[in-house]
Amino acid sequence: MSMNRRVLTAALGAALALLAGCSAGPQPAPSPSSFPAARPLGVQDPAVIPSSSAGPAQNCNPRASLRPPSSMPAPGQPPAGSTMARIQQSGLLRVGVDQNTFLFGYRNPTTGQIEGFDIDVAREVARAIFGDPNKVQLVAISSAQRIPYIQQKKVDIVARTMTITCDRLQQVGFSSVYYQAGQRVLVSRSSPVKSMDDLGGKKVCAAAGSTSIANVANYRSKPIPVSVQDWTDCMVLLQQGQVDAISTDDAILAGMADQDPNLQLVGPSFSPQPYGIAMAKDSPDLVRFVNGVLDRMRRDGTLQAINARWLKGNAPPVPAAEYQD
Ligand code: GLU
Repeated sequence: MSMNRRVLTAALGAALALLAGCSAGPQPAPSPSSFPAARPLGVQDPAVIPSSSAGPAQNCNPRASLRPPSSMPAPGQPPAGSTMARIQQSGLLRVGVDQNTFLFGYRNPTTGQIEGFDIDVAREVARAIFGDPNKVQLVAISSAQRIPYIQQKKVDIVARTMTITCDRLQQVGFSSVYYQAGQRVLVSRSSPVKSMDDLGGKKVCAAAGSTSIANVANYRSKPIPVSVQDWTDCMVLLQQGQVDAISTDDAILAGMADQDPNLQLVGPSFSPQPYGIAMAKDSPDLVRFVNGVLDRMRRDGTLQAINARWLKGNAPPVPAAEYQD
């Protein structure tokens, strides 16, 4: 894609995302007016920034999930009475996804379809339940909506650049790690900033409800966290010069840099962010089943192919699964 076309696509994507908010998903999401507006710049809202990412629940191995069943049911034949059978009877796998993150979960402005790495992974879960990867209902949600949507059973799974943490494991179940991201910094190419250490007293944007905003708020150089609803909102604030940087997962920042060649990633990865598929804590059968699907995808090359499709040569290696029981 030529540079002009890429900039245009980025601008279109950002404009569409802003216009549409979350209301353009296949299933109506709450109207944008039901979300708090972006915080006044430079003012952090303690309600959306966890006081510390090192809370009481840090004493766990977030990478260790539940072992898959010894034999996986054939596609389209989930065991009677299981969570997978209930989903099959409902007709569609309801998946909480992002529509703002280029490469992982974004609404393609040309086709209107939500697509990306996370969407492809979710479709493999649908294939295993229904024998059909298209039996998905993609529900566009923000970072902050992920846990409530699972707890309120508004979605069956969340596949949305979601880091497995010990705190979150107290509230939801997670699959094994399917992608290993790390938190970094994105700035304008004209910026002198080289890393988080140069951002003391400067405005750094991240989405409310993300591990990223907590890490910004707690960073030793004391940046000023600016929280917004969606990653595209951060991108627009950076493009407008209203914030000095964005800090989140390299996976998300790479998509922004791809969309806007005036932006660049800088500095080291300073916080590991292992991605898992989130599910209700009271459905361990679904967690085990999804882990079986991911294991199959590791073995037969599907996960590697999804990596290659979206991240081209830049994909980190597919992480091995770890199980605790
Ligand atoms: N991986 C981080 C998280 O789960 C940031 C990504 C996001 O919020 O979409 O909070």
